[in-house]
Amino acid sequence: MGDHDAIIIGTGQSGPSLARRLVAAGQKVAVIERKFFGGTCVNTGCTPTKTLVASAYAAYLARRAGDYGVTIGGPVGVDMKAVKARKDAVAGASRRGVERSLKTLEGCTVYEGHARFVGTKKAAVDGVVLDADRIFINVGGRALAPSIPGLDQVPYLTNSSMMDVDFLPQHLIVLGGSYIGLEFAQVYRRFGSEVTVIELAPRLIAREDEDVSSAVAEFLKEEGVDVRVDSKVVGVEKRGNRIAVKVESTGKISQVVGTHVLVAIGRRPNTDDLGLDKAGIATDARGYIQVDDQLRTNVPGIWAIGDCNGRGAFTHTSYNDFEIVAANILDNDRRRVTDRITAYALYTDPPLGRVGMTEAEVRKTGEPALISTMPMEDVSRAFEKGETKGFMKILVDRESKQILGASFLGLAGDEVVHCMLTLMYAKAPYTVMQRATHIHPTVSELIPTMMGELKPLQ
Ligand SMILES: Cc1cc2nc3c(=O)[nH]c(=O)nc-3n(C[C@H](O)[C@H](O)[C@H](O)COP(=O)(O)OP(=O)(O)OC[C@H]3O[C@@H](n4cnc5c(N)ncnc54)[C@H](O)[C@@H]3O)c2cc1C
Repeated sequence: MGDHDAIIIGTGQSGPSLARRLVAAGQKVAVIERKFFGGTCVNTGCTPTKTLVASAYAAYLARRAGDYGVTIGGPVGVDMKAVKARKDAVAGASRRGVERSLKTLEGCTVYEGHARFVGTKKAAVDGVVLDADRIFINVGGRALAPSIPGLDQVPYLTNSSMMDVDFLPQHLIVLGGSYIGLEFAQVYRRFGSEVTVIELAPRLIAREDEDVSSAVAEFLKEEGVDVRVDSKVVGVEKRGNRIAVKVESTGKISQVVGTHVLVAIGRRPNTDDLGLDKAGIATDARGYIQVDDQLRTNVPGIWAIGDCNGRGAFTHTSYNDFEIVAANILDNDRRRVTDRITAYALYTDPPLGRVGMTEAEVRKTGEPALISTMPMEDVSRAFEKGETKGFMKILVDRESKQILGASFLGLAGDEVVHCMLTLMYAKAPYTVMQRATHIHPTVSELIPTMMGELKPLQ
C-alpha cells in the first residue's frame, strides 16, 4: 500500500489543516481517525465547553436581570436537555465540517479505525497496512485517571463523559481546581448544581499569580461553589446512589458526599497504544513524544504535532504546530516552536486572558521590571455592563520596554490579551501602545492608560 506520500494519524487541530496543505502541494495523503473527526477541541474540549459556558452565562444573567431593570416574571429555569442539544448542535456542525472536508478532499484517503505503527514507516488500521515516507502523529490526549483508592469502583465523569450529561447533577464534586475543572464547576453551579471543588495545591490554578488565584476563588465562592484547597483526595466510595470522597486536609480526614464526581486533574497523551516502539519513536517518562524545535521526532520522516508532543496543550498551539511543520517542509521557512509566545485563556466568567510570564516568573528572573495593575471597577465599560470583577496586570522589561507578560482577569480578558500578544510578537516597546488611541468605551482603551502608570516592580 505504498501509494501515499504522507500518513496523518488523528484529526485533531493540526492534522486536517496539514492534510489540506500537503494535498495542495500535490501529495497523496492518508488520514486515520479512530473516533470523532475534529478531536478533543471540537467534540469534548473547547467548542462544547464554551457552548456550555454560554448557556450558563445566560442563566446567570437572567437571574441578575433585575439589576438591569429587566423583569423575567418568574424563577429562571435551565432545561438541561435543551442545553445539551444546543451544545451537540454546535459541536456536531464542527465535527461534520471536518469530516466532510477530509472525505471530499481530492488526494486524501480517510481511514476510520485505530492506527498503530507496525514498522518504522508503517501504520496499520483495521488490518490494512499503510506506508509512507512521511508520518505525522496528531493523536492528542485524554483525561488522566488518577490512582485514587476506590475511584475505579464508582462511575466517575471526565470531560468526555460530561458531554453526555443531559440532566442536572444534584451535587457535582470536581477533583482538580485547574483550568478544566473550574470551567465545569462554574458552569454547573450556574445551571443549579451544588458544586464542590477539591484541589491538592494550596490555591486554585496554582500556575497563576496568587492575586489571580485568589480573585478567581473569590468569585467562585460568591456564586456558591464550595472551594477546598490544600486538600488531598485519599479515597472514593459508593454510598447508595451517592459518592463519598474522602479528603485529607491539614492532617485531618473529612468527607464530601455528592451525586457525581468529575475527574479533572490532568491530561495524558494518547501514545500508549500506538506501537511507538515498533517505529523506535522516543517518548518522555509521561508518554509525550519527544520532538525538536521543528517538531521532528527522533525518527527521520516522522513528526509529532499537537498535545501529544507535550510542547503545547491548546488548540492554538496544535494549529501552530501545523503551521511550523508546513512552513518547514513545504515553504522552506524555518519556523520553530520556541518562536511561540505562551498565551491562553481560562473561560470562567469573567475570563482570564494570559500571555507571557506571570509576575512570579518575572520576579524570579531578578531582572528590573515595571508593573501596572488596574481593577476592573475602574473600567467604565465594565461598570456600564455591571461586570466589574477582576483586574488587569501588565509587566514590562525596564530596559527594553518590551512586554514580559500580562494577566487580564475580567470582562473580555480573553480578547483584550491580544493587545499584548500582538505587541510582543512585534517586539515593540510598550510606548508604541501608550500613544495609541483606543476606542471608547472598551476594556482595551485602558491599556494605554496602564502603560502610562507603569511603576518599578518592587
Ligand atoms: C474540557 C476541555 C476544554 C478545553 N478548552 C480549550 C480552550 O478553550 N481553548 C484551547 O485552546 N484549548 C482547549 N482545550 C485543549 C484542546 O482541546 C486541545 O489542546 C486540542 O484539542 C489538542 O488538539 P490535538 O491536535 O493535539 O489533538 P486532539 O484534538 O486531541 O485530537 C486527536 C485525535 O486523534 C485521534 N486518535 C488518537 N489516537 C488515535 C489512533 N491511534 N488512531 C487514530 N486516531 C487516533 C483521536 O480520536 C482524536 O480525534 C480543552 C481541552 C479540554 C479537555
